[in-house]
Amino acid sequence: MPRAVSKKAETDILKLIPAPRKPPARTRLRIGIHTSTAGGVENAAERAYRLGCNALQVFSSSPRQWKPTELGRSQCEIMTSLRAKYDLSPLVIHANYLINMAGVTPEFHRKSVEAFRAEVQRGIALCADFLVFHPGSFRGGTREEGLTRAAEAIDEAVDGLGIDSSNLKITVENTAGAKYSLGGSFEQVAELMERLRKHVPVAACIDTCHTHVAGYDITTREGFEETLQKLDATVGIKNVGVWHCNDAKAACGSKLDRHQHIGQGTIGLEPFRWLLNDARVAHAAFIAETPIDEPLDDLRNIDALKSVVKRKAKTQHGGTED
Ligand SMILES: [Zn+2]
Ligand SMILES: [Zn+2]
Repeated sequence: MPRAVSKKAETDILKLIPAPRKPPARTRLRIGIHTSTAGGVENAAERAYRLGCNALQVFSSSPRQWKPTELGRSQCEIMTSLRAKYDLSPLVIHANYLINMAGVTPEFHRKSVEAFRAEVQRGIALCADFLVFHPGSFRGGTREEGLTRAAEAIDEAVDGLGIDSSNLKITVENTAGAKYSLGGSFEQVAELMERLRKHVPVAACIDTCHTHVAGYDITTREGFEETLQKLDATVGIKNVGVWHCNDAKAACGSKLDRHQHIGQGTIGLEPFRWLLNDARVAHAAFIAETPIDEPLDDLRNIDALKSVVKRKAKTQHGGTED
């Protein structure tokens, strides 16, 4: 589910936040937010920097149109140099929402494969690290067929693009677990990754809102620990390169995907404190996809995530490490 953006207020960070004189404070973790590319993909880097991010996620084309935006060569070069200048890493690309790699309708399937191929091409051109996509809907077939179709479609889409020699990882996101959607459980995410691993570099993206509404309890300390253990036993925590940090509007198990501001939803702030201070996930990037209801909501959500990060992460044995 995309984040909701208010049309009433001015939301462009370039207009709301002037260029800072010195770099905004960062934490030891990689924290970012889904950032608008309005005016060119390189503007996202400037927006992320002004928000105090050191990681970013973008759409590389319009998320709700089949026709892709052409990326100029210069845009890619500018993006790369801005990322180096502002220390923005990783670069995560979220794939178009229309894509359904598990679908049965031939025409739709063909469009999905073409659009996914273009996502991978742009991802490689931008030197991106992760291409996050939702595994799709298997409506009209069985879950097993959906998994097979998705894996085959991705294999077909990346053919000849040289993804193995790029940084880009095809990154499966867990979903809210709505009927017919693939990826509502960690097992399903792991299964798809397993099938993809033969063909492409893979990773996982775990969304806290999706996890919560899919029925995993992360709001109690015991539930949180149990959820991480389940994740490790299936997907493997080391394979989770990206965490989507979103609070939820709906209840645990509701399967309703509505994102909320960090700390203001049915998850609350504490689970984010546990997550961001857990040494097992410290290698990952933490990206918010929270709503924009008021100007500067992005800044508040980034600050909320940063505010819970302690200087040193706790290890499982209660010690500390850098
Ligand atoms: Zn969502
Ligand atoms: Zn997400």
